[in-house]
Formats: sequence, C-alpha cells, structure tokens
Amino acid sequence: MKILFSELRKNFKNKTFTFNADDIDLPEVKFKNNLQKLILSVSSENEEYYVIGKINSIYIETCDRCLYDFEKAWNSSLDFIISSKKNASNNYDVISFNQTQEFINISDILRDHFFINRPYKKLCKINCKGLCVECGINLNNNTCECGPSNMDTPWEKLRKIKF
Ligand SMILES: [Zn+2]
Ligand SMILES: [Zn+2]
Repeated sequence: MKILFSELRKNFKNKTFTFNADDIDLPEVKFKNNLQKLILSVSSENEEYYVIGKINSIYIETCDRCLYDFEKAWNSSLDFIISSKKNASNNYDVISFNQTQEFINISDILRDHFFINRPYKKLCKINCKGLCVECGINLNNNTCECGPSNMDTPWEKLRKIKF
C-alpha cells in the first residue's frame, strides 16, 4: 500500500484511499472484498509526517472447532510517523524515508495491525459446539445419535456383554 509524498505534503483530513487487498501482502488471508479502504489524516512539520487512520475490513476465517468458514471484522486504528530524522520519536511506529523517495509503503504497518487484531483462537461463535468426534457432524446445526462420549463408561461395557 503506497502513498505518494506529493500527496502527503498536501496535509489532509479523513481522506479515503482505496487499494487492492493483495497490496497488504497477506497471501494466506482471504479478504471478503478485493478493494480495501483506508481513511487517513496527515499533518506535517519539518519533513515529519504524523499519520492517523482507520481500516475497517472483513476477512474469511476458519473456525478452529467446527472448521467452517466465517466472516471476521478487522478494525484497526493506525498512528505512525514518517520521518527523515535519524532519531525520530520512538513512542510511535516510525517509517523512515529519504528525500529522494517518491512514496512510502505502509504494508508492514497494516500487516502488524492485522496480526495484533487477529484472535489467537478462531471461533465462529464463542459457544461453537464443534464437530462430533464420532461421526464428524457439525453440532451447531445438527444432532446425532452418538451422544456425549459414553462409550467408555463401565455401563456401556456391561451392556455389551451377553449373558
Ligand atoms: Zn465453529
Ligand atoms: Zn455423532
């Protein structure tokens, strides 16, 4: 995701940038829409650019329990500095640049935010019932006869013994 310096120098507020999902360079992630929107505001001072922005996107995740695909929202707030100074403020994410560059690439920052935002455990819903370990049916919208795993109880073993 590239932004031209000629653009940055203009300073702007809540400007919408559209770009291709491939530009984030997350080939393993399937985004719902190929076109992504990023809203950015920029103010500059002494060849330093303060950038804040928002990305609201939707991607497809696979549930860890029932293995079904579901839509997940990705909402991140960006806050970083683009600077040509050697020791820029380190309270922020800093992208360094030199005066000869025509654009900066913020794909790394977007990727970082994506992974911070993505939950470690991927569940289609908090109480997903998953798949039956016996027959593999999706227990969220089906029931099966396997019942709660009672195959190992002593009663089950007794029941199988023929007298
Ligand atoms: Zn699930
Ligand atoms: Zn079952």
